[in-house]
Amino acid sequence: MRRIYLDHAATTPTRPEVVQGMLPYFTEAFGNPSSIYSYGQEARGAVDEARARVAELIGARSGEIVFTSGGTEADNYALKGVAYANENKGNHIITTAIEHHAVSEACKFLEKRGFRVTYLPVDKHGLVDPQDVKSAIGDKTILVSVMHASNEVGTIEPIEEIGRITREAGVYLHSDAVQTTGHIPVDVDELNVDLLSISAHKLYGPKGVGALYVRKGTRLSPLMHGGGQEKNRRAGTENVPSTVGFGKAAELAGQELDDEARKQSLLRDSLIKGLTERIDHLHLNGHPSQRLPNNVNVSVEFCEGEAMLLNLDLEGICASTGSACTSASLGPSHALLALGLSPELAHGSLRFSLGRENTEEDVARVLESLPGIVARLRAMSPLLKGNG
Ligand SMILES: *Cc1c(COP(=O)(O)O)cnc(C)c1O
Repeated sequence: MRRIYLDHAATTPTRPEVVQGMLPYFTEAFGNPSSIYSYGQEARGAVDEARARVAELIGARSGEIVFTSGGTEADNYALKGVAYANENKGNHIITTAIEHHAVSEACKFLEKRGFRVTYLPVDKHGLVDPQDVKSAIGDKTILVSVMHASNEVGTIEPIEEIGRITREAGVYLHSDAVQTTGHIPVDVDELNVDLLSISAHKLYGPKGVGALYVRKGTRLSPLMHGGGQEKNRRAGTENVPSTVGFGKAAELAGQELDDEARKQSLLRDSLIKGLTERIDHLHLNGHPSQRLPNNVNVSVEFCEGEAMLLNLDLEGICASTGSACTSASLGPSHALLALGLSPELAHGSLRFSLGRENTEEDVARVLESLPGIVARLRAMSPLLKGNG
């Protein structure tokens, strides 16, 4: 049975071209970029080239890219780095109820250390209202952090408009763009952001490497103290092979972005249409049109997300749920609840996230498998009238 991978929002396979590009930096070109002999300088050159490629993908300048160990570190660095460097200016941070845990848990940590955090609500489609951002900004506000698109429901947020508001107010804007970079156009100047998080393994690069875009002039305290790497913004010997892989993945993503977005959004729409036609009491979560080209998130009434996942797995299909236990956290996804879903519907959610290797055949396989799984589970469900 061929495995059908539909969980690209969790991670993507590293492209063979990327792996090939990384290999020499483990062996022949293993030097430390801080060394002045040519071995070291070869590695330094490779890191700088990767930096230029990542910068190009988001319309930034090379000097504004700080490499990190991934999206989580980039988010933590943005939140804590701005908080600590701007304490004299204020202690108020504004974010949303649907952020990735890398942002929301960093905010909770800061709350315990004297910062005040406002968690803005979203509408039923998962959209943040820019006017809510405007109303929440006060004298003590130093940072607004709103994700570019939801990793769960795929809704794309109005960052550009929020950025106009934060710019006018003189407040920094951070956006977690881990799900959008390399998938839809991301331009730091168009978006009006000061800080933006990226992760390589969500765009067909290796795991354990990412970047924080830091607009020139942004006041930020480092999280890591040690050597002077990354212009004193992130100490520690550079992860040269992974950074090279990140650069290659960013380059390829930029070249293929338009074609992939078009192709995947067609598959997305046919999966949504097919599921809606074949399964009754099924609801699409997230925005009907303003959503990531690769995201399908549905809730199936009278079915447990986890039960559906395990059954899909038996049929070779990998997906995800916002239900309990699959994540380490208890209870259903905070993001789905923030959209106003009942706990039952949140427990019955399924996320399919498409990728560059998926085909119409994969969509057809899901459409063949899921209706039968749902029917079997519903037949056993005590939630459904007539059973139990
Ligand atoms: C995956 C993800 C992260 C975390 O990135 P890592 O590189 O896995 O640490 C952060 N934010 C969003 C929206 C994500 O999807």
